[in-house]
Amino acid sequence: MTQAGQDQKQELLKEHDQSLIFELSRSGRIAYSLPECDVPQRPVAELLPDYALRSEPAALPEVYEVDVIRHYTALSRRNFGVDNGFYPLGSCTMKYNPKVNEDVARYAGFAKIHPYQPEDSIQGAMELLYTLQNDLAALTGMDAVTLQPAAGAHGEWTGLMMIRSYHEARGERRNKVLVPDSSHGTNPASATVAGFETVTLPSTPQGLVDLDALRQAVGNDTAALMLTNPNTLGLFEKQIADIAAIVHEAGGLLYYDGANSNAIMGITRPGDMGFDVVHLNLHKTMSTPHGGGGPGAGPVGVKQRLIPYLPKPMVVRDPQGTYRWDREQGDSIGRVKAFYGNFGILVRAYAYIRSYGPDGLKRVSECAVLNANYMMHRLAPYFDLPYPGHCKHEFVMSGRNLKKFGVRTLDVAKRLLDFGYHPPTIYFPLNVEECIMIEPTETESKETLDGFIDTMIQISREAEENPELVMNAPYTTPVTRLDETTAARKPVLNCSCS
Ligand SMILES: *Cc1c(COP(=O)(O)O)cnc(C)c1O
Repeated sequence: MTQAGQDQKQELLKEHDQSLIFELSRSGRIAYSLPECDVPQRPVAELLPDYALRSEPAALPEVYEVDVIRHYTALSRRNFGVDNGFYPLGSCTMKYNPKVNEDVARYAGFAKIHPYQPEDSIQGAMELLYTLQNDLAALTGMDAVTLQPAAGAHGEWTGLMMIRSYHEARGERRNKVLVPDSSHGTNPASATVAGFETVTLPSTPQGLVDLDALRQAVGNDTAALMLTNPNTLGLFEKQIADIAAIVHEAGGLLYYDGANSNAIMGITRPGDMGFDVVHLNLHKTMSTPHGGGGPGAGPVGVKQRLIPYLPKPMVVRDPQGTYRWDREQGDSIGRVKAFYGNFGILVRAYAYIRSYGPDGLKRVSECAVLNANYMMHRLAPYFDLPYPGHCKHEFVMSGRNLKKFGVRTLDVAKRLLDFGYHPPTIYFPLNVEECIMIEPTETESKETLDGFIDTMIQISREAEENPELVMNAPYTTPVTRLDETTAARKPVLNCSCS
């Protein structure tokens, strides 16, 4: 690292250390001032059993209220979110979420109701769920939708459990789920948890499903093929109708991983491509902020033949126009989430769909695809493009052309932090060397896209002219290169402050 870089880093670390709250602690300081309580109180020892009583006070910092506020505010500023800046995380869709949908989710009629309230007192909320089910079915080309699953992976598992019940009901023993080598890691994981064996399909050099390999792999043990289209490389599987026919002829079903639906809304539908099951991540495509660990929602849509297996309860509409919970178990796989799913997330998605309308949703996808292609074509001269041509909402580059300078994709990602950008997804999908996967999303202006592109070009020049600069980055963050292996193997989960 250069001397200037070293100095800057030391300076920054000092500044950050000063904000550490334990260093600010002075004996006797307290963070509140309230009038003496005049309600008679029983001693704590009377309220708690012996084993629950502390023998000495907790080792907490003794600080003023203002120090506590500044400490947590400083910590929150170290966090990076889509409201701070550009966040081109491929596959994950970190796009701006309109704040009006947050407002709607906080309406008392939605936020303050209780799931055990009588049906006649929550007809509005039930109508919202019912309408959302239908909207999502229309958007995906499916016949019915459950809103229960809490995340994408949860939706995958729910869909696979329905597929399992479907085959079992027909007296067939099908225990294999096929996934392409570019698939999201949750696909094989969900299949395994649902009791299947996974079979990985190789991609063609063009990054698409290899039809010959698929023909070889299917058989009377095939339960399903899990696919996303456009696939994880951002490429549209043009032979999807043939793929569907091969799987269906073998007696298997097609599962669509619609976690990221940013490329297809209003343009094409998994149901029309031949898929039997689809999940959506409302926390990627439809207005719920994500990345902080939840909550999310992963509704699952199914074709007619899988309807009997949908989780219960479902909201249904009687001929008189009243809504009620259908709790009839029948062949249902049962309940997969407490109550009816993460209701607040469903409200946001409803508001998002209704405010854009069908034309607006189509425009979202068109702009997402346009932005990705613009960025890919401007960056093409500076990085390796394993799959040139047109991409959909995201694209994959390789940093392998920088390896001759000693610079790797990880270094490029770290250097981006110095310019205030969240790095793109890197080293995923696994089938591309030194992979960089970029999803600009539809919500960014041309100026923002150009700013990021220019920075990437600058970093590629730095890699050539001053590789050390890139290899030692970042210089401006509180922590720099983390020992990720030790962090994963020996995590320190609490603050040992003494
Ligand atoms: C994000 C994602 C998932 C998993 O979604 P979670 O809500 O994180 O469980 C699955 N598949 C694809 C393609 C994704 O991008």
